[in-house]
Amino acid sequence: MENIEITNARQNNLKNISIKIPKNKIVVFTGVSGSGKSSLVFETIGGEAQRQINETQNSFIRNRLQHYGIPDVDKIENLNVPIIINQKRLGGNARSTVGTATDIYATLRLLFSRMGKPFVGYSNVFSFNNPQGMCPVCEGLGWVQTVNIDALIDRDLSLNEGAVRFPTFQPGGWRLTRYTLSGYFDNDRKLKDFSPEEWEKLMYAAEHKPKKPDKDWGKTVKYEGIIPRIEKAFLKKDSKENVSRKEALTNVIIKKNCPACQGQRLNEKILSCRIEGRNIADCAALSVDDLLKFVNSLTSKTYEVILKELSAKLENIVTIGLQYLTLDRNTDTLSGGESQRIKMVRNLGNSLVDLLYIFDEPSIGLHPKDLQNITTIIKQIRDKGNSVLIVEHDPDLIKMADWIVDMGPGSGKNGGEIVYQGPFSKLKKSKGKTGLYFAGSPVLKKKSRTPEGYLKIRNANLYNLKNLNVDIPKGVLTVVTGVAGSGKSTLINKVLPVFYPDITVIDQSLSAASARSSLLTYLNISDVVRRLFARSNHVSEKLFSRNSEGACKNCRGLGVEKIDLAFMDDIEQPCEECGGTGFDPRVLQYRYHDKTIADIMNMTVSEALLFFTEEAVLKHFEMLTKLGLDYLTLGQRLDSFSGGERQRLKLTKELKPGQQVIVLDEPSTGLHPSDTQKLLAFLDHLADQRHTLIVIEHNLDIIAHADRIIDIGPGAGKYGGEIMFEGTPEELLKDKKSFTAEFLRKHLQ
Ligand code: ADP
Ligand code: ADP
Ligand code: ZN
Ligand code: ZN
Repeated sequence: MENIEITNARQNNLKNISIKIPKNKIVVFTGVSGSGKSSLVFETIGGEAQRQINETQNSFIRNRLQHYGIPDVDKIENLNVPIIINQKRLGGNARSTVGTATDIYATLRLLFSRMGKPFVGYSNVFSFNNPQGMCPVCEGLGWVQTVNIDALIDRDLSLNEGAVRFPTFQPGGWRLTRYTLSGYFDNDRKLKDFSPEEWEKLMYAAEHKPKKPDKDWGKTVKYEGIIPRIEKAFLKKDSKENVSRKEALTNVIIKKNCPACQGQRLNEKILSCRIEGRNIADCAALSVDDLLKFVNSLTSKTYEVILKELSAKLENIVTIGLQYLTLDRNTDTLSGGESQRIKMVRNLGNSLVDLLYIFDEPSIGLHPKDLQNITTIIKQIRDKGNSVLIVEHDPDLIKMADWIVDMGPGSGKNGGEIVYQGPFSKLKKSKGKTGLYFAGSPVLKKKSRTPEGYLKIRNANLYNLKNLNVDIPKGVLTVVTGVAGSGKSTLINKVLPVFYPDITVIDQSLSAASARSSLLTYLNISDVVRRLFARSNHVSEKLFSRNSEGACKNCRGLGVEKIDLAFMDDIEQPCEECGGTGFDPRVLQYRYHDKTIADIMNMTVSEALLFFTEEAVLKHFEMLTKLGLDYLTLGQRLDSFSGGERQRLKLTKELKPGQQVIVLDEPSTGLHPSDTQKLLAFLDHLADQRHTLIVIEHNLDIIAHADRIIDIGPGAGKYGGEIMFEGTPEELLKDKKSFTAEFLRKHLQ
């Protein structure tokens, strides 16, 4: 069968749509945010494909697979086995490295077990996860935990005032009495006034019985310094308390390089095994391109097969543009885009055919130059006989599609339909927003704002930066460009704050504290809304809070019930009592202008703009609209937003009176080109108020709109880290060296 056939899809906002999607083709799904792309591609197609596979597994495996809901659709025919490649970070496991995630480290181990001298054992002993191979001190992690004394102790306070910033060591805490009753200290003296001996005793003393403790001191209780105490109670493997005190611990614990193996993870015996002077940890510490050179320099007739396999795998990493990474890099330090490309590499070696690959915005984090490689790889995947579905906004990736499905016309309730399907050549004539974008032509900014002084960075050397001196203009919009891994985030997110700590970095992360809060709560305007309800009904405000009296008794305001199934992940389903609103059904009898509080929570921002008249809330809704976020609903939980949505949302909150230095890392993430224009208008508005805006971006429409461009390159990792260009977009067009210039010229043609 040539098509995946979907009949009557209704997931989220989809309007009962039926569509045939060609197989063995690259199909790109476009449309404004909230139009329904993910609802169709991930939740309906991906969800159903996953569900069908799960059905075929035996119950043992089925119970361990991720639970996918059943999508709301009548029928889907001709599905294939799906492989979903998104930007979810690769395992948060401290033992997962680029080498293990790509399986390249396994091949390297095999090579060492054959060619290494002296011979120390089979390939598995070269694994830092194997007790025979791992460093005994750090057990293969490469680091050990230690207490950060500056974070733990406030020397300006006394013990009684709470100098030890850790639960149970605070005034009233039981652990504190082990110190205050010991008879050793003046409990009201500030710690900075302790003598060196007292300090030593307080912090480090080994376990012993104190000489003259208070009468309340337990007879059998021993004294021990704070640091060994914390290490024993919380940092040892078998500690139970480390779970309950997790949050407090993260504030006072730091990692340090393992003193035994210096971070090499393996024991001495394994590290003594070498090939041409290098041990396996040395090899894992080389960048992939250097390791490739080393492997290619080795000659052996006997082990030719292993050498060939290893170099082919390393070539794949180079192809995908990650040659600057080292195999020992922990995967949890990789960016979303880097993680996504690692997942692609894992699938390159895959010889299965007739799979359904689903990509979520593969352009994230990528310069147009990097995109060329990605495009090549995606085409290879198709040519092997697979189907490829991509949710994407990047014009270059849209252009390479065999088939385009444009969704819209608007977002939320105003979307959920198919506006266009067909080849790129006819997209321009379609009436949708995507068509309109391609029918228009990009604009180059001609008049740049004049800087009001500069933020000066001198001798920046972190990671790959090559002793950079950079002047970032104040009061204007600066765009920092360069291929992935060239050093943009290192310069702006890591180095700049060392020179100017007073910077507002707006990233895409989400604090655990706000994950469950709704849009209204996040904006700090839920109290305004509650007051409106309380006044018009003459009842208490607390009734309209899901965290207070208004909470549904059954689900405690969450709107969902967790079903705890032994041996399975918990699954969530809408609460039966309140129908998922989270409100006590009795609260819903109260109305404000005909709406219940649950109705308000279901409103989109654009509906809220028409409904409310209070200035205090309207200004937030207007700001959200300016940022293209008018389709969000007021009750939506923050953890359901995409990274890009979160970042734009944070922007609305972080703006304060006065001039700020604002850093944005790829704010175009997830934005449809028509919304990019909105974002630019907003950034212009901020720059007109003379805020300093520093934006790391690959989007050529945003680059063309900058007051100033700083291009870092030329390549990634050690081949990058230099300033290639500084100036206006017009000047960049004339530049002969920078890759960004080359692509901007093409874009503006
Ligand atoms: P896109 O991928 O095009 O940005 P989505 O498919 O994510 O759009 O969203 C389409 C609409 O469905 C939006 O109005 C969104 O708020 C809504 N939606 C998405 N996920 C859910 C959900 N889990 N529950 C209810 N509504 C949702
Ligand atoms: P960009 O933002 O341009 O994509 P980065 O600044 O993230 O590039 O990376 C520049 C170089 O610094 C790369 O070689 C990258 O691997 C390295 N690097 C970034 N973060 C770390 C880290 N935490 N540890 C070691 N190297 C890093
Ligand atoms: Zn170690
Ligand atoms: Zn409930």
